This record gives sequence, structure tokens and C-alpha cells, in this order.
Amino acid sequence: MFCYQCEQAAKGTGCTKVGVCGKNEDIASLQDILIFGLKGIAAYAYHARVLGERDEEVDAFMHEALFKTLTNTDFDLQDHIDLVLRAGRMNLRTMEMLDRANTTFFGDPTPTPVQGGTVEGPGILITGHDLLDLEELLKQTEGTGINIYTHGEMLPAHGYPKLRKYSHLKGNYGGAWQLQKTEFPEFGGAILATTNCVLLPKDSYRDRLFTTGIARVEGVTHLPDAKDFSVLIEKAKELGSLPARTRPQLTTGFHHKAVLGLADKIIAAVKAGKIRHFFLVGGCDGAKPGRNYYRDFAELVPDDCVIMTLGCAKYRFNDIDFGDIDGIPRLLDMGQCNNAYSAIQVAVALAEAFETDVNSLPISLNLSWFEQKAVAILLTLLDLGIKNIRIGPTPPAFITPNVLKVLQDKYNLQPITTPEQDMAAFLS
Ligand code: SF4
Repeated sequence: MFCYQCEQAAKGTGCTKVGVCGKNEDIASLQDILIFGLKGIAAYAYHARVLGERDEEVDAFMHEALFKTLTNTDFDLQDHIDLVLRAGRMNLRTMEMLDRANTTFFGDPTPTPVQGGTVEGPGILITGHDLLDLEELLKQTEGTGINIYTHGEMLPAHGYPKLRKYSHLKGNYGGAWQLQKTEFPEFGGAILATTNCVLLPKDSYRDRLFTTGIARVEGVTHLPDAKDFSVLIEKAKELGSLPARTRPQLTTGFHHKAVLGLADKIIAAVKAGKIRHFFLVGGCDGAKPGRNYYRDFAELVPDDCVIMTLGCAKYRFNDIDFGDIDGIPRLLDMGQCNNAYSAIQVAVALAEAFETDVNSLPISLNLSWFEQKAVAILLTLLDLGIKNIRIGPTPPAFITPNVLKVLQDKYNLQPITTPEQDMAAFLS
């Protein structure tokens, strides 16, 4: 790669950061954060665009920000921090745009129980984030006797009225993306991956895994963008009936409009001291050890507290029956990771109701990060001025100690410790 600033210096010096200027690792770190954030924004903007929505301001920012990563004469830390925070602001616009697109197309989500497992009959498992792919699959399989099951981040699809109206959308099978190599062989039917969180398959299920849209996996049949799923449907028929298997029932569909529909009850419960605290526990799951922290943390949440969740990290604990407080469920699944927008709307509405700011509310954020969308969401939360967020299981490797110190000093962004210590700190 050509680096017009460092080419001379890089020669023979072992510089490994050609293109982002190895002379200043903090600037390189902020540019890495920016690029990861832009990838996350691009994912959400892509989903909105396939549903007919776009935002010129977001597009213009993407161009400016990517261009900025070429200009290696700016070593101003604050200038770069301002830019990554603007990326967070643009991500909020993008999540709002995607929410508008999803709700316009598929209706406002409402709380919905989702049966885990499979019923007898041929089945297709759909994973990823693309709701339009799911709708198309439901249309093309209607009346064929094939049942459709959601996996991973498709779970929230059950909350949308125009998707759950299909009676052959039977339920959910499996959990977060990193379990695919165990769950896909067990499932037994055909599988459709719609977005990036898909693993290289084992040979045992490679011939019944299909990709579409942005998702591609070497050696796996890619279905055309024209959304003709007939090859997938034929495969599901050829594979025959799945066994009846019962897994725990899950709940989803707590979009901000559904939660704000309960606002009076929630405010009354807070004022009466029946709800002491809200926790947002969610984000991206991953394969590294240590992520069971989030289940241990959720199990420690006191009975008079509510957990909001989103992303695939919820699979660490969403099989637990948390019960309710005066009819308000203690576990509110707000949806996919982009539904962080819903969590923000709920927090802003509660702040207005209690005539305070979000940081003064009894709400704590304990986020699990893994990939680019989580970076974009973290930048959004920081740009909104939200403090005391904990992230884990490990701090992102691309954040240098200096950049982390800036974030800690300004936002008190902290890495997780132990569930017990973090719970005590949040409730202190
Ligand atoms: S929450 Fe993150 S890791 Fe999980 S499926 Fe979505 S983008 Fe992938």
C-alpha cells in the first residue's frame, strides 16, 4: 500500500501501519475506530436502502470520513475524536432511518412469544439481519408445507406484524452466530444466511447452507439478488421432515413504541419504588471465553430491576424466566443491535418524564462488543454524552491506552470486571 506521508520513513523501519501513518499510534487508533464505525453505519444504511430509505447527510459524512483517513497531516487528537463522535451521530440517524424503514414495511413490533425448537415437517432456518429476505422467503414458501425458523439476529422478526402473520413462521432455533457449527448440523434442514455474521461451514452442512445478498461463503451456493429462493426450497423438500423438538420459549418485540405504551405503568412503578433500576445488557456475542459474564450478570440483577436487551448477546440469558413487576416484563428484548435506537428512545422519554437527563436516570449500560456495528453504537452513545458505560469482555485491541484514557476521563467508559463488582458499582 502506498503511503505518501510515511513512504520514506517506512522503508527499512518496519512500519506496519502504512496508510494510517505509523508515526502516531493514537491517530491510527482513532482512524481504526472511525473505519470500524463506518462499516457498522454502512451495514445499517444498506438494510435501510433495500427498503427504499436513504439519507444524504449520512452518505456525505461517509465520504468525508473515509476521505479524512487519507489525510495523514492532521495529528490533532481532538479533531479526530470529534470526527469519531460525529460518526456516532450519523449512526443514530442511520438507526432511526432503518427503524423507519422496518416499521413502515413490516409494522410496529409488539411483544411476541416465540417458541424454540422445530415441529414435524420440512424446514428452512434463516439467519442474519435482513428482514426483507425473510419476508421474501415467507412469501415463496407459503402453502408449500415448509416451515420457517429464525436463528440469531432474525429472532426479533417475530415481533413485526407483517412477518408473524405467516403461520408457517414457526419459531426460533438456536442462538448467537458463534454456535452455528453446532446448531446448523443439528437443525437438519436447509439454511439461508443473509448477512455477515455467518461462519465458514463444516462439510456436514455445506451443501444445505445458502447465502444471499451481502453474505457469501466460499464453497456455498449463493442465491441471486433477484431473490429467487427456489433452489433453497427444493433443498428443504429433498431433506424431508425435521423432528419435533421443544426448546425454551423466548420473547421479543419490545420496540420503543411498545415499551412507551407501558410508560404510565413504568413511571408509576419507578415512583412507587417497585422498579429500582434498568439495565441495558446486550450487543454482539462472540466465541471467546469470558462471555458467560453476561449470563452471570443477568442472574445477579435484583428482582426489582428490569433488563433491556438487544443484539445476539441476549442469547446468553434470554432463556431465563425473569418474571414481571406489576405486569411489566423484567426482560425486554428490543430487537436487533440496530434497535439500540429503541433503547435510546426509551431512555430519552424516561428522562423527559422524570425531568432529568439520561445520565441521572437509574439506567446502566453493560455492553458486549464484538464487531463493527457495536463500535458504531458505542460511538452513538458517547456522542449522546452517556457516561459510565461498561464494555467487555475485553477492551477493543485497536484502542490505544491514550485514547482509552480520553474516553475514560470524559465518559467514565470502563472495562467490565466481575459480575458482582460491576453490579455493586452500578447500584451504588
Ligand atoms: S449482534 Fe453483532 S455479532 Fe450478533 S449477529 Fe448482530 S452484528 Fe453479528
